[in-house]
Amino acid sequence: MALIKCPDCGESVSDSAPACPRCGWPSKAAKVPSAGAERMKAAGKIMVVVGFLGANAAGFAGMASGADHSQLVHVGSLLFVAGILTYFVGWVRN
Ligand SMILES: [Zn+2]
Repeated sequence: MALIKCPDCGESVSDSAPACPRCGWPSKAAKVPSAGAERMKAAGKIMVVVGFLGANAAGFAGMASGADHSQLVHVGSLLFVAGILTYFVGWVRN
């Protein structure tokens, strides 16, 4: 934990404090999750779940019926990987 100087009022503020106690200047050191990154993480989670379930459902349906659902399995797998990437980018930008 370190002390930084508030650029607004010069007060010493802990870098873990969300804002300056005197003037309320929001400390940049404190992590404020951006709305965009949070949305990306949420979208990534949905893509992972939908892609995983879709690929498995298509795979099992293909096995049960003998029909070729490999295209659907590929789409689901792509969605799954894209979801992981989206989540990761959102996590990094957070
Ligand atoms: Zn201040």
